[in-house]
Amino acid sequence: MRRIVLKLGTSVLTKGTARLNRQRMLELVQQIAALHNDGFEIIVVSSGAQTAGRERLDFPDLGKSVPAKQMLSAVGQSHLMHVYQDLFDIFAINVAQILLTRDDLSHRVRYLNARDTLDTLIEQRIIPIVNENDTIATEEIRVGDNDNLSALVASVVDADLLIILTDQPGIFTDDPRKNPKAALIQNVTQISDNLFKLAGGAGSSIGTGGMVTKVQAAQITSRSGIKTIIASGSEPQVLSRIASGEKIGTHIEAERNRSDSRKRWLLTDRTQGSLVVDAGAARMLLKGGASLLPVGIREVRGDFERGAKLAALSPEGSEIAQGLSNYNSDDLRKICGQKSQKIVDILGYSYGDAVLHRNNLVLL
Ligand code: GLU
Repeated sequence: MRRIVLKLGTSVLTKGTARLNRQRMLELVQQIAALHNDGFEIIVVSSGAQTAGRERLDFPDLGKSVPAKQMLSAVGQSHLMHVYQDLFDIFAINVAQILLTRDDLSHRVRYLNARDTLDTLIEQRIIPIVNENDTIATEEIRVGDNDNLSALVASVVDADLLIILTDQPGIFTDDPRKNPKAALIQNVTQISDNLFKLAGGAGSSIGTGGMVTKVQAAQITSRSGIKTIIASGSEPQVLSRIASGEKIGTHIEAERNRSDSRKRWLLTDRTQGSLVVDAGAARMLLKGGASLLPVGIREVRGDFERGAKLAALSPEGSEIAQGLSNYNSDDLRKICGQKSQKIVDILGYSYGDAVLHRNNLVLL
């Protein structure tokens, strides 16, 4: 284990207050510096821009509009980076700011550019500090929360581990404030609907971000072959203890071996529609190495363009694969259930026999 993405949430950086807590940040930076000096490659995903902006402007009453939040981020992001640089300077470590949106990661070329920049920084032993590019990120193009962003970053840099530090010791079997028998879930080998329920259920999502986005994040990493640990940022020396193998927090194991880079990229984007396939096509897909042909598609859900990312659903409705579509939804509605040889007759053109080609497909 060498490359670690570390997500620091606002509640960790502020110790639950309205201001960045320099002492807490110093403790964390000190731990990061120690790992860095031990040869680990750390990529930080840090929230706190808006909080820093509010603090900087002395807590103005701006309402909750999107431009107001974007303004706070614009003010706060440079301030946040300034604090980080000052703290890392103590340890003679350089940092770099990377601001991303979902859009940057869904486009293959921009994804590769982001990856190359991150890789170069890491090679130069500079610690990248990533945040969402809040000032330009509108609803359509933003990731929306830094838990998911940190998972995407872990996938981009092919990390060995994602550590999400939060204000909770991990995910519990029930609300620990209400149920004294609630226990910390130490190990998750498969992310189930039940885990999402536990994460979203009243209580276990105490704190700001909640646990649901953390489980979503772990689903992205797990599918990419990356392990995730959710632990408390106030646990003393939490990073070095995790790095030395101590069992702290909730560990979510990778579902599979590391996927190759192109497949990890495929998994980073949201699906824009789905295709319900018949039992035969589901079997072929699950065997691996097969493309999805129009003849195996029963139903097309959603409206999307050619190139959109789609989920392939079994006849029972479970997601079995995700892939890039060679056809838009209108065309697919015309050719679904048909033999590939008929595509040209029906549409007047063809983008190939496959709807989801095996090179652009990830099994789940
Ligand atoms: N990008 C936001 C900020 O820095 C935080 C988003 C989040 O914490 O999920 O203020």
